[in-house]
Amino acid sequence: MDKNILDRIEVLQGDITRLDVDAIVNAANRSLLGGGGVDGAIHRAAGPDLLTECRTIGGCPTGEARITRGYNLIARHVIHTVGPVYSGKQSDSPLLSQCYTNSLQLAIDQDISTIAFPAISCGVYGYPIKAACKIAVDSTCNILKDNRSIKRVIFVLFSTEDYNIYRDYLPTSQKKRTDKKV
Ligand code: ADP
Repeated sequence: MDKNILDRIEVLQGDITRLDVDAIVNAANRSLLGGGGVDGAIHRAAGPDLLTECRTIGGCPTGEARITRGYNLIARHVIHTVGPVYSGKQSDSPLLSQCYTNSLQLAIDQDISTIAFPAISCGVYGYPIKAACKIAVDSTCNILKDNRSIKRVIFVLFSTEDYNIYRDYLPTSQKKRTDKKV
């Protein structure tokens, strides 16, 4: 992988709601009206105005992304994307990939230069973390290779196991930069 791309990618273990970035990505459901997991954590940290804005959007199809303000979050924006419920079919992987590419494209369109992703679909939606990690990193690198405006992409993993899987997938040159906790 190109060093220029990898220099813009970080892996952290912790709570995505605490990050100081232009946008955090929410693993939302199609209603965009809140849920459990990272979605619940983001709505709790952002406060009720986030739900009020989400109600005006009218939902989001699987694989697409929508942007709102961040309200009480440190992050200025939330990009809501809807991952696939894992089915084991071939259609899962392109849909998960689209979550990353559409979120990054939205960030590029909105002049967002720092963005953090959780492990979309890897909680209640049941996507196996190793396969999802490869899709997340490869889809992101594919966008970054043709783009200069995104300066920093952070993958935030809640559990040590998931964090180690991302660390192991990224090349050795990257590992010295992935030892932080948030
Ligand atoms: P999905 O419905 O897309 O599977 P979940 O919210 O259930 O979404 O889980 C997605 C991932 O987010 C899981 O790996 C879960 O451990 C992780 N997660 C949950 N809360 C947080 C948080 N506050 N910060 C970062 N990651 C989180």
